[in-house]
Amino acid sequence: MQVEARTTELQTADEQLRQGIDERLRVDAVLRDSEETARRLARENAAMAEIGRIVGSSPDIQDVYERFAAEVRRLIPFSRIGANLVDFTRRTYELSYVRGLDVPERDAGAVHPLEGSFTNHVAESQAAMIVRMESERHIPATLPGLVASFQAGVRSSIGAPVTSGDKAAGVLILDAIEPDAFEQHHVELAQRIADQIAGAIVNSQLYAARQRAETEIRRLVRQNDLILNSAGEGICGVDLHGATTFANPAAARMVGWTVDELIGKSQHDVVHHSRPDGAPYPSEHCPIHATLADGQVHHVANEVFWRNDNRNFPVEYVSTPIRDENGELVGAVVTFRDITERIEVDRLKDEFVSTVSHELRTPVTSIKGFLDLIIEDDSPGFSDEHRTFLEAAARNTQRLERLVGSLLDISRLEAGRLQINVMSFDFRDVVDLTLDDMRADIDGKSLKVSVTGAAEPVVVWADRNRTIQILANLMSNAIKYTLPRKSIKIEIGALKIEDGLLRVDVVDEGSGIPPDAVDRVFEKFYRVEGSGMGSATGTGIGLAISKALVELQGGMIWAESELGKGSTFSFTLPRLPESVA
Ligand code: ADP
Repeated sequence: MQVEARTTELQTADEQLRQGIDERLRVDAVLRDSEETARRLARENAAMAEIGRIVGSSPDIQDVYERFAAEVRRLIPFSRIGANLVDFTRRTYELSYVRGLDVPERDAGAVHPLEGSFTNHVAESQAAMIVRMESERHIPATLPGLVASFQAGVRSSIGAPVTSGDKAAGVLILDAIEPDAFEQHHVELAQRIADQIAGAIVNSQLYAARQRAETEIRRLVRQNDLILNSAGEGICGVDLHGATTFANPAAARMVGWTVDELIGKSQHDVVHHSRPDGAPYPSEHCPIHATLADGQVHHVANEVFWRNDNRNFPVEYVSTPIRDENGELVGAVVTFRDITERIEVDRLKDEFVSTVSHELRTPVTSIKGFLDLIIEDDSPGFSDEHRTFLEAAARNTQRLERLVGSLLDISRLEAGRLQINVMSFDFRDVVDLTLDDMRADIDGKSLKVSVTGAAEPVVVWADRNRTIQILANLMSNAIKYTLPRKSIKIEIGALKIEDGLLRVDVVDEGSGIPPDAVDRVFEKFYRVEGSGMGSATGTGIGLAISKALVELQGGMIWAESELGKGSTFSFTLPRLPESVA
């Protein structure tokens, strides 16, 4: 009995001891676990701090990705890591960094549409997540973008949004080839890493944008330099005070200074201070200064620029206003070219025209004289056919004589030797004479010619022959550029002009002149291209001579025209002063 009791006692004590040991083991295990957790957390915190340090160490995130990836690997086992930048405006994402397993068409720098991508899904939901793809059937139908990864061997992925402000700027992706590679605490770690790199990614985007802008600026500067340096024309800039702000090598070469010497100096004082005769050129009259004042483009065809050796050269230049981005005037660009050679070529051309027309005049006059004599001589030996030939020869010789006359006038005009002899005469006589002379051409085209304002005598004080020449030229143009059966009007004094001038208008219903050519028809040798009168021949000097003749007599000449409707050529001549009349 006693033995039994003793045994039971022992058994109880043993039981208690075992329970105590179990308890102790459990406590030990819990302690070990929490120590393990504490160590793991410490490791993770240290790695996370290191990641922060790495991404903060350079403005260009590409520089640090390598070290970053190595650090992440200590926390999460992955086969491939990537950082994708999201562009919501273009609806695309760009793989800014990729390391590890190769996925076709998913290299760094590749750009893909956001639609259907895992990146989009994570960026839109702004939450880190895992996808597992044990087989292709596990790929969500809404994320076809994952097929490429799956085919390359990826079986699970973590995506963590990289947010800046309240939007996702990118997504950090970690891929593994095992379906169970990742656990929930890996997702949390991935999010912490994504948060660590957010600032760096945004900075890096700004940095990349700045780098692109700087590269573009460098490219533009190089391109500008190339254009300015290779241009044959002188190009320089002036600020609002007229100081030179830049000059290209051609400009410096032409004026004999170096580019550096020109910068900062007053352009007018250095190259534009005097007229060709040496008289001072006040800057108030300078067209370049006018651009700085009125903001308009000024073209100048005949001035001189001065070199630093005190010689000058003839220039043609354009000064164009420069405005800043608000439209404020900040200076002007002056583009100029040395026209010495062109002036020399013009001189040679004028000399040639003058020599040839002088040499032609005598033989032409002589041929015409003899032809007239033969035609007048009614000898019976001439057949009708001979007579027709002779008359054609005489008509063409007359044309030739007029052409030689015009050429002589042009060369006299150039040499300043065109002379006029004024007298008083009735302008109506000039009209009658001109119309008689042109009767054949007028009738030939069945044109209706009318004259208004001829009821009373119209006495002018001008060169009679030159006035005939002016009117004849305007009339012959009106006839030439008007279709048959249309009308031409000569209006004498229809519009009264003060200052003792008579105004004459020659109004036609002809082809008209394009707006940009109206003012140019008075230039020497200028003809309107394709004026609609294909067959009309000419030299382009008639109006230049008419203009010079009108102006020499103290009048003005101008044209108004509407294409397809007709033209009005008008000129003025001095009336006979009342006192003399
Ligand atoms: P030409 O008639 O010999 O060519 P002009 O100096 O007389 O030279 O005229 C210059 C240009 O002006 C002509 O070529 C023509 O294009 C244009 N022009 C002159 N008069 C007229 C007009 N009445 N109608 C249309 N165009 C004209």
